[in-house]
Amino acid sequence: MIEVKNLTKRYGQHVALDNVSFAVQKGEIVGFLGPNGAGKSTTMNIITGYLSATEGEAYIDGVNVLENPMAAKQKVGYLPEMPPLYSDMTVDEYLRFVCDIKKIPAAKQKETIAQVAKLARIADVQKRLIKNLSKGYKQRVGLAQALIGNPPVLILDEPTVGLDPKQIIEVRDLVKNLGKNHTVILSSHILQEVQAVCDRVIIISHGHIVATDTPEALSQHILQVNKLDLRIKGPKNDILSGIKAIPGVETAEILRIREEDSIDLNVESEENVDVREAIFEFCREHDYPILMMKTMEMNLEDVFLQITGEKGGKR
Ligand code: ADP
Ligand code: MG
Repeated sequence: MIEVKNLTKRYGQHVALDNVSFAVQKGEIVGFLGPNGAGKSTTMNIITGYLSATEGEAYIDGVNVLENPMAAKQKVGYLPEMPPLYSDMTVDEYLRFVCDIKKIPAAKQKETIAQVAKLARIADVQKRLIKNLSKGYKQRVGLAQALIGNPPVLILDEPTVGLDPKQIIEVRDLVKNLGKNHTVILSSHILQEVQAVCDRVIIISHGHIVATDTPEALSQHILQVNKLDLRIKGPKNDILSGIKAIPGVETAEILRIREEDSIDLNVESEENVDVREAIFEFCREHDYPILMMKTMEMNLEDVFLQITGEKGGKR
């Protein structure tokens, strides 16, 4: 449904995208994951026909975006990083304006707007001025405009940026739902986010694709069974020396005391050695209740380090 071949984008001397190729199948929800400045927006702007490429090609449903941007745009609903909302319009007026741009016949506009308003859950604010809406609602108005004309492909650039946790969950559910009838690419710099909604994750760093993975495979990178976060109830020194004596344990250190008579500690074991059961046995033997035990999760920077062998890009 979407195909990108050897895409390169240079801004003067600066190479924002370097020979990027990938394909997205019909019906997939693909996450574009990378730190700030990785090239996510640049890629999305090229595949939606808003930016030209220095080299390479992009196709949407077989249409060459760079040669035929108008035809390609009709197949794509785009939520840019900064949705171009007109704040002095009401939601209704704005959506009508977008209908005009997308050449939806006047007789069909009312029905179209009602449909997208329902999908994006903004029906209750249709008469309000855009400037008076919360950030979460503005984002959903941006999504609604992308849905007008029922394009088969949706491209969403960081759709949850700046939203509060409740709004993030709402937008996530919305995207999952849209994924049933659309091919979706969404970008994010948050690992957990793309994991939660995507069928596949493309990781981009410094304008290069460094990995393509399923969310499950990505989890294998992220979970580090050799790094544990523990809270155990009992005498501090006995617990510490006991855990240090477990074969495979490399370091154990006390972090803080959060609950009375218990200690929080970090335990690191040798690579690929899982000492969780041994810790459980030790604690059971001495009657030290384990109040918490969890494996540490890597953050995006750590994952980049592991995948690329270098530090993830920063602006
Ligand atoms: P992302 O969306 O992943 O944060 P971008 O695609 O916005 O990354 O940017 C990729 C790189 O291109 C960055 O280094 C950015 O500074 C640079 N860049 C983006 N737009 C321009 C521009 N109009 N002029 C010059 N450099 C740009
Ligand atoms: Mg961006």
